[in-house]
Amino acid sequence: MDQRKRIAIYGGTFDPVHVGHLEIGRRISELFAIDQFLFVPARQAPHKQDREVSAGFHRYAMLALATQDDPQLVVSTFELDAPDRRYTVDTVEHFQRELNGSTELFFIMGADSWSEITTWREWERLLTMTNHIVVTRPGFELTKDHVGPHGERVFFTDVVMNDVSATNIRRLASEGRTDQLDDLLPCPVLEYIKKYGI
Ligand code: ATP
Repeated sequence: MDQRKRIAIYGGTFDPVHVGHLEIGRRISELFAIDQFLFVPARQAPHKQDREVSAGFHRYAMLALATQDDPQLVVSTFELDAPDRRYTVDTVEHFQRELNGSTELFFIMGADSWSEITTWREWERLLTMTNHIVVTRPGFELTKDHVGPHGERVFFTDVVMNDVSATNIRRLASEGRTDQLDDLLPCPVLEYIKKYGI
């Protein structure tokens, strides 16, 4: 059996981190025997430049609060610290170089991201350079038809099926309906949002 340490890289905007993201971190870690599950907030996702994203330090703070009690869930500032925005292919390459073959890497994404993967920078190289785990999301189909022969290192899982989305949370928060956010956000994240008026 492969004794290498297993590390998951989970990129996203996390504006804000919600219970769906956390459920993915916890359930994927269990299912794939992940030793360290890294949340890697983006400076600003290249494909989400049509809207204003909350400051990186707020998104980092909410992630840190949300993962505080789970030792294997860790937040990485690699993309936030970069002088300019990083593409996923660069981030994965960075961790591969840094971890130097002593670990097995898994990149995690939801079914909505997977359906758009062919728009990502150097997607063919990204798909073949490491393992990928795609998680089901209500309303999105899981197929490999769009990636042709590049899907060999891609695993699908339905271990999480949750229709929570950050877009919906931002809408509820902007309409002042914070009482409806209880089930969608971890408590300290909801408190943080109220306290700083995000
Ligand atoms: P937004 O509504 O702003 O697009 P989001 O809820 O999709 O946000 P992101 O930070 O964009 O959250 O997501 C990071 C990653 O997590 C993406 O790969 C996305 O597909 C995945 N993801 C987010 N929410 C879910 C969910 N409920 N089920 C499965 N995957 C999810």
